[in-house]
Amino acid sequence: MPATIFRKGLDLKHDVANDLARDYHSQLVEKIKESDYCWKSGRLNIYLAEDFGFCYGVDRAVDYAYQTRRRFPKQNVFLTGEIIHNPHVNSRMREAGVRFLSDKHETLNNLTPEDVVILPAFGVTTHELSQLEQVGCIIVDTTCGSVLNVWKAVRQYSVDRYTAIIHGKYHHEETRATASKALDSSNGRYLVILDKREASLVCDFILEKTSPEQFLSTFSTACSPDFNPKTDLRQVGLANQTTMLMSESLEIGDMIRQAMITRYGEKNLPKHFRAFETICSATQDRQDAVTRLLHKRDFSLAVVVGGYNSSNTRNLARICSERVKTFHIADASCLISTTEIRHHQLATAMPAHSTPAQSEMTTHDWLPAIDTLNVAITSGASTPDNIVGKVVERLSELATLD
Ligand code: SF4
Repeated sequence: MPATIFRKGLDLKHDVANDLARDYHSQLVEKIKESDYCWKSGRLNIYLAEDFGFCYGVDRAVDYAYQTRRRFPKQNVFLTGEIIHNPHVNSRMREAGVRFLSDKHETLNNLTPEDVVILPAFGVTTHELSQLEQVGCIIVDTTCGSVLNVWKAVRQYSVDRYTAIIHGKYHHEETRATASKALDSSNGRYLVILDKREASLVCDFILEKTSPEQFLSTFSTACSPDFNPKTDLRQVGLANQTTMLMSESLEIGDMIRQAMITRYGEKNLPKHFRAFETICSATQDRQDAVTRLLHKRDFSLAVVVGGYNSSNTRNLARICSERVKTFHIADASCLISTTEIRHHQLATAMPAHSTPAQSEMTTHDWLPAIDTLNVAITSGASTPDNIVGKVVERLSELATLD
């Protein structure tokens, strides 16, 4: 039996609205927004970025997940993995009885056509989707429209025989899904690059400064099967994981474009290089908002709230850390005391493919004992407002104690 796929919700938006507000809303955050995004408590001045927290894609994915649970109360409901990169939201899913196919004891082989499977906002690979379709189960697809746009571009590249170079993290669900779309056509190829350092290795190969063996020693696990850099890097099209740092994506695009001009000449560039802007507007808005905030005044510190495995949150922390002492924390429990804070190691200071657990650290004497404490706060696109609200409350408590 063919799978039933829901892509536009399940007509229960109003029925789950109260549950969503109960689980993720914060009155304090609403109050701060109404007060021009600032809040004062004793010596503490909190300034919130004007764009932060749940993006439209996450909002929709979480909404659809709640609707799914409501619509199928007696059936097994699964997620393929984390619905979004926030531990609190994923815990709520588990508490509601939603199971995770990514858990060790779960397997796709046990699914039946009566089971319901929710696909996350960052989508799933072509292979995973076809496995689910073969089972014939009920699928609720919450893949974000901005991710679908990237897939469209990548598919077009592959049809036109351009290798998709994806600026992203190859182990990230969205990038794995995007890379799989490059293989929807038999001509498709992909290469995932993490940062400018890796982009310069690609440029070196394009400029014939390195051998295929040298190239593959770095990228063999980040490219499509049987990737041949000699033939597969002649025509390339750029794409991004939607949550990368915009400025870095642009620089990487420029580096590769320039290498193609040097190798093949400017007039031949269209034959060898294509680019398509695939950072989503929500990511961009959050990056722009925190940049604007940090330019407005001098801050004692910045606090960025969100899951440690959330790419867009890590990039917000990276932006802040360029201007001010910054702590990327998961939630209020990280604010242990006035002298101790648990936080994520900043992306610039950690090995490229380290796991979130490896990168948590504790810093002492983090809260300055000064008369006026100006704190900038933002949060990632997968962080609910109530988590931010609790962080503000905890900061206020600590600032009073000091
Ligand atoms: S970060 Fe962008 S692409 Fe990802 S879910 Fe949110 S809106 Fe969609």
